[in-house]
Amino acid sequence: MSFQVFGIAVSRGVAIGRAVLVASSRVDVAHYFVSADQVEAEFARLLRARDEVVAELEALKLDLPEDAPHELAALLDVHLMLLHDEAFTGGARHWIDQRHFNAEWALSAQLEVLARQFDEMEDDYLRERKADLEQVVERVLGALAREQGSAQPAIAARDFGGEDPLLLVAADIAPADMIQFKRSVFQGFITDIGGKTSHTAIVARSLDIPAVVGTREGSRLIMQDDWVIIDGDAGTVIVNPSPIVLEEYRFRQRQSELERARLARLRHTPAVTLDGQVIELQANIELPADAHAAVEAGATGVGLFRSEFLFMNREGELPSEEEQFQAYRAAVEAMRGMPVTIRTVDVGADKPLDRMSISDLRHEHVLNPAMGLRAIRWSLAEPSMFRQQLRAIYRASAFGKVRLLIPMVAHLGEVRQIHETMRRVQQQLSDAGHAYTRVELGVMIEIPAAALMLPLLLKYVDFISIGTNDLIQYTLAIDRADESVAHLYDPWHPAVLQLLGQSIAHAREAGKAVSVCGEMAGDPAFTELLLGMGLRSFSMHPSQISSVKQRVLRADSVRLAACLPAILESEDPEATAEREFCALRGAQGKSLH
Ligand code: PEP
Ligand code: MG
Repeated sequence: MSFQVFGIAVSRGVAIGRAVLVASSRVDVAHYFVSADQVEAEFARLLRARDEVVAELEALKLDLPEDAPHELAALLDVHLMLLHDEAFTGGARHWIDQRHFNAEWALSAQLEVLARQFDEMEDDYLRERKADLEQVVERVLGALAREQGSAQPAIAARDFGGEDPLLLVAADIAPADMIQFKRSVFQGFITDIGGKTSHTAIVARSLDIPAVVGTREGSRLIMQDDWVIIDGDAGTVIVNPSPIVLEEYRFRQRQSELERARLARLRHTPAVTLDGQVIELQANIELPADAHAAVEAGATGVGLFRSEFLFMNREGELPSEEEQFQAYRAAVEAMRGMPVTIRTVDVGADKPLDRMSISDLRHEHVLNPAMGLRAIRWSLAEPSMFRQQLRAIYRASAFGKVRLLIPMVAHLGEVRQIHETMRRVQQQLSDAGHAYTRVELGVMIEIPAAALMLPLLLKYVDFISIGTNDLIQYTLAIDRADESVAHLYDPWHPAVLQLLGQSIAHAREAGKAVSVCGEMAGDPAFTELLLGMGLRSFSMHPSQISSVKQRVLRADSVRLAACLPAILESEDPEATAEREFCALRGAQGKSLH
């Protein structure tokens, strides 16, 4: 049966493929693909685990005391019967054979299928047997875990040999898992939770694959292997589409590929407005390897290197100074003399490190992590870790232009401590004979307090970078990762526009460089607004550069600036901007003829 699921569009384009469900709500297991020649061995592994549980249960049954309640023996019989049922192992075999799932994943996929069948049963007694099934699966998963030290990553999907494109469906995906998809086979993804600027969504956008988040029930309604269309522009998911709908979307998919190819031709065109303003279009990256995509896309530097991704998926170990230095140096060298802005670690809120890390231990009982010990607060609370990161960043400065960016600053005291740490780190490096050059210091403006006290902050920094994702979150008191309030997360809110416009103006007045590195910078819907506010430096995912550049090439910054007062005074700034900019485009179109 065909049906639709609605969510929030986070990454554009159309993807068509088969659903791959991971991380079922019932059991949390590792998901990875096995290669074709491992299929038999993987099934044998499953059978061994099943047989081990059978032996365990039979032994239990034999050991039952004489006076044990009759129900106990009956229960063990039910469990044994389930273990021998063809629907159990035969079903799991299907996922291993056809989809190359690992044994644990195959088992949890089959549990989903059978659990749904149990849910639909009329008979109360039979329906309640679902709990038995879950217990049996847990026992087999336990046996599998004992058999193999399960050091597999949570989701790794590189060597899948199937032919159908695969789309990932999950209740939620942590940014740490999402980052692994950079090398994966998934061509789109759908999650139940998340907002437009949640970090999971941000990473998805950096992968440049269609994605819809916040579907609430998607992972419950969509079944393993269903054919699915992701409409990443509208934020809808069509499950089991009819042939006509499928054809329509295949057509749209081809159109959007053509459009991308057309935009890609702008790659090496300088971003200059009609009135001659040169605009910096820089890249946001998560890992050093992304720098190559940045250069390919025509970025004029890295405006935001989210260094926290180097700290993820490490089973609690933080990267050493040497390891960080090598990573920063790799990014700097890949950018061939263009600036690289490295942001110090920004963990916390919806970006926890992995389960066993120090940060998680600290955050375990934090009531409101978005307002807790995160970003620079965490760095200042871990001074030796902070110095280690700064040393690595300074050392990379010997290989190209490096800028240091600090997240979540709200107090002058924090900036003073940062200066103090920078001095100490320079001294340490000089003493150790390490080369480094001057590194400019910038702070992110993402807390309203920082925006409001900007003239004071500007005296102590070389540049600022406005993080609109958090600035909107904290100005409007909207959790950016919470889909239930996503409709209130509004970049066009007059308060947000005031803070944004004032911050850009203050920085320019003080003669300090200012850029925007939040998601607004990469969304062409805001390019004219930001140019009108006086912004000349934008930082975004490499895949967004061409579309923003196209807007820049058609813009006249003087005329855009003239539209600004009407927008800022309007009760409905979005509508006013649309009207003003449309009129401008029309007038420019005419004057070109
Ligand atoms: C922001 O808050 O706008 C930003 C760029 O930082 P992050 O999205 O990593 O919080
Ligand atoms: Mg931020």
